[in-house]
Amino acid sequence: METILEIKNICKTYQSKEGEILALKDIHFKVKKGEFISIIGPSGCGKSTLLSIISGLEKKTEGEIYIENKKIEGISEQVGYMLQKDCLLEWRNIWSNSILGLELKGRLNEESKKYVESLLKKYNLYDFKDKYPSELSGGMRQRAALIRTLATKPKILLLDEAFSALDYQTRIMVTNDIYGILRKENMTAIIVTHDISEAISMADKVVVLTKRPGKVKDICKINFEMENRNPINVRESLKFSTYFNTLWKELGVDE
Ligand code: ADP
Ligand code: MG
Repeated sequence: METILEIKNICKTYQSKEGEILALKDIHFKVKKGEFISIIGPSGCGKSTLLSIISGLEKKTEGEIYIENKKIEGISEQVGYMLQKDCLLEWRNIWSNSILGLELKGRLNEESKKYVESLLKKYNLYDFKDKYPSELSGGMRQRAALIRTLATKPKILLLDEAFSALDYQTRIMVTNDIYGILRKENMTAIIVTHDISEAISMADKVVVLTKRPGKVKDICKINFEMENRNPINVRESLKFSTYFNTLWKELGVDE
């Protein structure tokens, strides 16, 4: 598989009233096309900072980001971002929410509208296109937010604690749903979470960061050797608890 994203020696220093805060130090890893990478690490270790740097919303202090071997400076069109809040606009119906990203980028045309329509149909939201976000369940809202992001055809999707606002049961179902869609669309994804089980359940690799300043402590390959793997059925695998224990220990060592 070819490398789609390379993160090379990223360092980030924030300026604050108390002086400089070193948030990230020498972050280095590669992501292959179609791969799902989970990032875990203690609170405040720089996970959100790293995603913001990859998307170009935040400036890096040192290092380089390459997407398909091209150095990225500033905001990247190829990167989509999903946050904890679905950020759907309550006064717009599902259709106008779904086309919002395209509208903002000035890319709304007959062809892109057809694409959004096909996504809504494929993922069972087309019948809800005239409804407002408040009329949808939490899970359907997240799916609508995902379709809005996919509509702009990003090459890499970043998810920052995207499911953590949902209650446990819903979270498992939504994770499964979103995972299925992303795999079907052959997306490459970077998933930031503080939940070790969630990280394992979705990832091909888990990147473990140290406490601040965040450095790469380990990259743990996840392979359940299962056909039709999904975030729910992997939890039944014996390997799941082995991975959990390994990562739990790695997170704990420098507490
Ligand atoms: P995480 O997502 O892993 O919890 P963050 O990336 O949000 O961590 O933050 C990493 C560190 O950088 C924290 O110590 C945080 O206080 C600090 N930080 C984040 N954003 C800013 C900012 N805009 N200005 C100053 N410090 C910041
Ligand atoms: Mg964060």
